[in-house]
Amino acid sequence: MHKYELDIIGNAIDSLDEALDKYAQGQSGCTRSHKFALLHFCHFMELILKHYLSTVEENLIYSKVFRVVAKRAKDDGIPLIEAFEILENEEFDFESPIKGHQNPHTITLDMALEYLESDKEYFDSEFASEIRSLKDLRNDIEHHKFEMNTKEVRLVLGRLTRGFDEFTDIFSVVGLQNVISKKQLGVFQTLADEYEHELEEAKVEVREAHNAAFRGVRPKHQYDVHWATYDCPECNVSDLMIPNIDSSTGFKCTMCGNEDSEDIEVDCEICGSSWANGEMSSWVDTYSYTCPDCNDFDSKY
Ligand SMILES: [Zn+2]
Ligand SMILES: [Zn+2]
Repeated sequence: MHKYELDIIGNAIDSLDEALDKYAQGQSGCTRSHKFALLHFCHFMELILKHYLSTVEENLIYSKVFRVVAKRAKDDGIPLIEAFEILENEEFDFESPIKGHQNPHTITLDMALEYLESDKEYFDSEFASEIRSLKDLRNDIEHHKFEMNTKEVRLVLGRLTRGFDEFTDIFSVVGLQNVISKKQLGVFQTLADEYEHELEEAKVEVREAHNAAFRGVRPKHQYDVHWATYDCPECNVSDLMIPNIDSSTGFKCTMCGNEDSEDIEVDCEICGSSWANGEMSSWVDTYSYTCPDCNDFDSKY
């Protein structure tokens, strides 16, 4: 095995560890960290794809070697993977294009992707376009054109983490869960599990809405801010329903979008006191919401 190959997987995992660390900082509110999470993750993707190509043929990660395969594919009008297999059957010496070179130039992320995409039977093209979109974001950052939608960055990173978790598994590259550092394992597992990731994002939204409601409010006036949360009966998670001006009930779940809960308090149309709407009674042709007190005729009369 060439020395470059030995380093490549270790460096890939280091980059993933860094990306996860910055991701966690980003999720807990540090906007700047998103940029670094993205940069480190791009580096991880590039290295892991190169590593995969090196397991196909150790010299395929060098541009000069790759170009021989690409030329054959173009000349014969066939996919890269087929061109590689033909050259292999012809016993082409894949080391020959780089013989004598001290530090041969290695392929780009795009080249690695191109090769993988030619393997249509196993490689998912949706995954490839996610990889490209993250790469485009990185280019925008490098050219300072990046207006960061932090939530979007976190969602893309989540989808790509799931994609690479699957990719490394299908292509038996490396068991990511086994090699990343213990400190980042929790973050990785959350990202790798779609439900867990969505739930985390929903909680972040609750936290941000809460902070926005109280921002700039002096401590002695905080009691006057009417900000409440309710448990969502649709997704069975507590405190995900938050005030929402577009909702017909005034509340909406940040995960599933549900607007209804019997717990949402409304004012009694007779006495004005607040009760959970599930406890209210309606009177024919008169009131929609009347509270248990106003309906307690036995103890009053
Ligand atoms: Zn819900
Ligand atoms: Zn009442």
